[in-house]
Amino acid sequence: MDRNILIIYTGGTIGSVQTATGGLAPLDFSEIHRHVPELVQDHLTIEAVSFEPPIDSSNMGMAHWVELARMIHSRYDEFDGFVILHGTDTLAYTASALSFMLEGLHKPVILTGSQLPIGLPRTDGRENLLSAVEIASALRLDAPIVQEVAVYFGSSLYRGNRTHKASAESMQAIISPNLPPLAEAGVDIQFNEGILFRDPLMRLNVQETMESRIAWLPLFPGQSTEILKRILDWNDLKGLVLSTYGSGNAPTNTELKALLSDANNRGVSLVNVSQCSHGAVHPERYATAHMLRDCGVIPGGDMTTEAALTKLMHCLGQGLEGDDLRNTMRSNLRGEITKFSPVAPVR
Ligand code: ASP
Repeated sequence: MDRNILIIYTGGTIGSVQTATGGLAPLDFSEIHRHVPELVQDHLTIEAVSFEPPIDSSNMGMAHWVELARMIHSRYDEFDGFVILHGTDTLAYTASALSFMLEGLHKPVILTGSQLPIGLPRTDGRENLLSAVEIASALRLDAPIVQEVAVYFGSSLYRGNRTHKASAESMQAIISPNLPPLAEAGVDIQFNEGILFRDPLMRLNVQETMESRIAWLPLFPGQSTEILKRILDWNDLKGLVLSTYGSGNAPTNTELKALLSDANNRGVSLVNVSQCSHGAVHPERYATAHMLRDCGVIPGGDMTTEAALTKLMHCLGQGLEGDDLRNTMRSNLRGEITKFSPVAPVR
């Protein structure tokens, strides 16, 4: 069957090629077929567009996420799948944000990038791009196999809102600590079909509004409560993600407790995620987690920090508050969180 794929280049390492003199120059994406001739295939039509100018992903922000969501929305019926080429630094944030913005998605949106420019002999960009296009084209019984925002990197396809950049060196830079790969590319691409996400909403609906008045605070031993006090002094603050220890623990500190209770009472949404990249927040497991639970902090389960931050931006942006926001943060919107059965307290 003929497949039509839109490649959107946002910027990042992947988009450079070697010049005749041996230097690196930005790739002209309108000529992508010339640089990656393997993209010329029967039954495959590729259109490539580029951010103008392309950006290093450190400069990614909400306006760029909206731009990407709108591009996909406006060309949704024209293409069978979308491949977004993105710098690796904030790729996990963009993948998470897009997963929440694109409700009712039933086509593949595959983000990828590379550690080495596509124009270098040892590049990982060529394989990442070609496999991402193959995955974006893949069908089962005439329907796209992948119908969600996913990230292809280093031979694996991951759910986008489960990803995290774990290495600035390795070709396996991106990991998915709490969910196995959706697919592995060996000789064939093997999909793990049992865990692919299917959105119950049938029509694509772009939810653009994201709340930017949120903060993120990792805890560390010896930390002064002054820093939390300063953050909470921001009158306009709408939400705060706390990165706590282990399975969601924080120091037993009356000042910390009073600050968090006050913030919760004045309507700041507080979310608890673990500093451990693998595992989940269990608010009942240790006494050191009970304080956070008693202050109204929402347990973030096994969400990555990237997913928790962008989900909070999304939920607040949709105008949710109080119990609606609590319940939505705890529920599974796009496969970003695993439902846990309650665990018995161990201490
Ligand atoms: N700094 C670059 C970026 O994230 C690194 C990369 O392209 O992977 O845009």
